[in-house]
Amino acid sequence: MKVYADCAATTPCDKKVVEAMSPYFTEQFGNADSQHYYGRETAKAVADAREAVADIIGCKPNELYFTGSGTESDNWALKGAALHRRDKGNHVIISSIEHHAVLVAAEWLENNGFEVTRLPVDGTGLVHAEDLEKAIDDRTTIVSVMYANNEVGTIQPVRELAEIAHRHGALFHTDCVQAIPYMNIDVKDLGADLITISGHKFYGPKGVGALYIRNGVKIDKLVCGGGQERAQRGGTTNTPAVVGMARALQLSREDLDKNNAYIASLRDHFERRVEAEIPYIRQNGNKNHRVPSISNYSFEFVEGEGILMLLDFNGIAVSSGSACSSGSLDPSHVLLAMGVPIEVSHGSIRFSFGKHNTIEEVDYIVDKLKETISRLREMSPLFDLKKGGTYNV
Ligand code: PLP
Repeated sequence: MKVYADCAATTPCDKKVVEAMSPYFTEQFGNADSQHYYGRETAKAVADAREAVADIIGCKPNELYFTGSGTESDNWALKGAALHRRDKGNHVIISSIEHHAVLVAAEWLENNGFEVTRLPVDGTGLVHAEDLEKAIDDRTTIVSVMYANNEVGTIQPVRELAEIAHRHGALFHTDCVQAIPYMNIDVKDLGADLITISGHKFYGPKGVGALYIRNGVKIDKLVCGGGQERAQRGGTTNTPAVVGMARALQLSREDLDKNNAYIASLRDHFERRVEAEIPYIRQNGNKNHRVPSISNYSFEFVEGEGILMLLDFNGIAVSSGSACSSGSLDPSHVLLAMGVPIEVSHGSIRFSFGKHNTIEEVDYIVDKLKETISRLREMSPLFDLKKGGTYNV
């Protein structure tokens, strides 16, 4: 049996999405900026895609800029805002559990003369408004806090945080890459000035994203070149990808509640079984404020990489808590920020379910997980000590 339970890393492209994209690879291949029939045809497809996405997130089409990924959108928002607003100050605030796209962009700013404050989170991965109140001052130009975290799924109080940022004259950016597959996002309601989305987490294509920039907000360009995207982002528009992202988002809205309820029921079944059948575990994340897809557990006395390998051997695809991108063995910065002890964080796995998963698959995962954890614990010297009563975490 092969089971894919790594939907927070990426999702398969929906066949209807591939169908929508297909003509733009072949017959309708024109450059959307060309001044002839072929160009006009693709320009219309790009405009329609922009309108469709804008309509869904409640913004004007001219507030939406297509990019090459969620990573690019995050970099653009953070660096673009900090650089453009240097006259106001050199202080940037992010949360300590951001995706690397924000974390590393902030590090880049730090290496280039900016001061970065990383907000703490509580044990469930929540940022608290008081901490932003304490950290923000008149030099702060941008605050960036993700809507839903990619490792543990915790949903942040972004409206409240945006309001605090605005009170201090700072812009507010939120990375909605993990939230938009599951949550209705209305830019006005959210109150953010800058919003990142990415195509491949909701059954759309990879290598395409968007940045919402509220009208009136000015940030520096990140990708300089031609006059594409109203001269704000150079590079020939990837017509098939933007058409695909828009179609995928439309499809995801059609069945949002039904899919969310279904995915949450799989996750709940998974968690009930794991918690009843596997000892010495820790659930990571906020059970009351989270997306329906992600379940993250630390399994004490074992290494996440070992769990991943044995599950993979059984055809099960999941992620270690530390990475949605690389084979990194570093402990997860998210779990560490949540106060998970380093040795426990090493034994963490993110399971992320999607609409294609079945209850039988979930049962198969739990069965194999139980076998895997027992097998690894049999080989674990720490578990031996625990059994002997001389080890306490
Ligand atoms: N932000 C979050 C929260 C993510 O989970 C991801 C993807 O893993 C990204 C940004 C990066 O998006 P992309 O893969 O489109 O670069």
